[in-house]
Amino acid sequence: MNDCLFCKIIAGEIPSEKVYEDEYVYAFKDINPVAPVHVLVVPKEHIACADEVTDKNSGSVAKVFEAIAKIAEKLGIKGSYRVVNNCGENAGQTVFHMHFHLIAGGSFGWPPC
Ligand code: AMP
Ligand code: ZN
Repeated sequence: MNDCLFCKIIAGEIPSEKVYEDEYVYAFKDINPVAPVHVLVVPKEHIACADEVTDKNSGSVAKVFEAIAKIAEKLGIKGSYRVVNNCGENAGQTVFHMHFHLIAGGSFGWPPC
């Protein structure tokens, strides 16, 4: 049995506020936004984290970035957003289905810590 929260959201078993969907990617509003725009962009293929990207599944990651460009256009944030991927507990990953935080609308500092 697949106990993955994001697999369940992608399958529609857990509700979400969908922003975008195609054959490879599902994107929805983060339940706990850190900025005025905070969307999670997720490959439908279950990949636990960036450590598990290989030549077999990297196409799913490329599709995520194609989707990000479309979502940015749709949300009117082109050229003004940050994409964040946390890999591992020490980096703040809490859901172990790889995902990309698309955040915009605030003023972001750099470096992040
Ligand atoms: P991370 O900490 O990088 O693993 O990001 C996980 C993100 O998932 C957090 O920003 C959470 O707020 C978000 N999250 C957790 N559960 C849900 C949910 N049911 N719907 C939308 N976002 C969620
Ligand atoms: Zn999953």
